[in-house]
Amino acid sequence: MKIYKFGGASVRSAEGVANLCRIVKGEQGALFIVVSAMGKTTNALELVLEDFIGGNTASALDRLHEIEQYHREIMAGLLHQGEDFSADGISAGTNRVGALFSELGGLLAAASKRDDYDSWYDRIVSYGELISTTIVSGYLAAQGVPNRWLDMRRCFVTDSRHREANINVDRSTLLLRQAVDAFPEQVFVAQGFIGATPGGCPTTLGREGSDYSAAMAGYILGADSVTIWKDVEGVLNADPRLFSDAVHIPQLTYLDAIELAYSGAQVIHPKTIKPLQNKGIPLYVKPFLAPDHAGTLICGRIDTPIGVPILILKKDQVLLTIRSRDFSFVLEEKFATIFSLLERFRIKTNLIHNSAVNLSLCVDNSWHIDEAIEALREAGFDVMKAENMELLTVRGYTDELWRKYARGPQVFVRQATQSTVRVVRKRS
Ligand code: ADP
Ligand code: ASP
Ligand code: MG
Repeated sequence: MKIYKFGGASVRSAEGVANLCRIVKGEQGALFIVVSAMGKTTNALELVLEDFIGGNTASALDRLHEIEQYHREIMAGLLHQGEDFSADGISAGTNRVGALFSELGGLLAAASKRDDYDSWYDRIVSYGELISTTIVSGYLAAQGVPNRWLDMRRCFVTDSRHREANINVDRSTLLLRQAVDAFPEQVFVAQGFIGATPGGCPTTLGREGSDYSAAMAGYILGADSVTIWKDVEGVLNADPRLFSDAVHIPQLTYLDAIELAYSGAQVIHPKTIKPLQNKGIPLYVKPFLAPDHAGTLICGRIDTPIGVPILILKKDQVLLTIRSRDFSFVLEEKFATIFSLLERFRIKTNLIHNSAVNLSLCVDNSWHIDEAIEALREAGFDVMKAENMELLTVRGYTDELWRKYARGPQVFVRQATQSTVRVVRKRS
């Protein structure tokens, strides 16, 4: 069995879904397809949630209506993509999609208690993937690809850490294998990003988490390979939207890939690599517009060294400088307190730098930061916050790159090893 993962960008339009179908038709063996929400639907559902939590039901429903229109346009577009997506396919698909929107609309209108933000997030936002997979599955069927739609809320059992749930491997193995074995179809269509607690409450696995879903499905099903289909040639040495001279990297080791993902390269979710490395499953990152292109192979050993420096820019960062008020050595005495507080507020730390009495942390910006700072202050620390920062990582830097990126007044923190330099700098 192979795993194919299609992200939001690859299914953002009718052409995208039709292209997915062409790629799937080109594959002969058993296929497990993981699909994200279409285009920017997750962001749009987050706005629905904000209105809902704020008590603005009418506005939440208006926004939901716009999301429904967007999906209906895609379905209408699909009618023109292939001769057959008419009769059965479109009506069955449209009905199921309509039912999902009504279900979500009903949920928004009826709920009176709106206090548990994280669990409402998962209940609402998970519809993005339920809807996209329903459309994809219906279209594939109508195009002559028999397939089975799987509800991953019944296959991935997670803990109840809402919005960043962890998959319980043992329980999920049982359920996912059972689900796949129960059906005669060779092709399965499954949602990325979602699962459910043992009690059946929907959970999500963290933004961009569909790559992780694909990797876990690969791990559990003992897949021959996992392929992530992207709107780029494969993994490049930098984000082509930010660095116009970015070049394609044909091969990477799991270690390179996990470092790259951890440093913030959006192309792969950081949690994707571990399950694949653990079972030695190769990961391909391939361009969905050129399926014959080799893309990038990520595996245990590579025969072509990377050969170019890798640049990773993580935007939207905040630099916290924490100092103990009584001047005790921060590192020795206070680490545990500081990190457990940050964990409580789910602040993600991307770089740690310490001196005798200061601890500098470069963290993802989030709406919890000010609460975390308040809690740190209550715990006896002085905290300074510098906003509008970004974290640049250069692996395999040269003198020229050092001069270009690691110097200058905009650099607040710099950490270097022989091969890698990481710089916290003011946004340019
Ligand atoms: P999807 O919707 O499939 O999850 P994303 O938009 O999240 O796709 O990720 C693909 C984007 O990741 C690319 O369009 C590219 O701009 C960006 N990206 C960032 N870093 C890299 C990199 N090192 N190599 C390739 N693409 C990268
Ligand atoms: N739809 C989710 C998101 O946008 C998950 C994913 O795309 O991987 O974050
Ligand atoms: Mg993505």
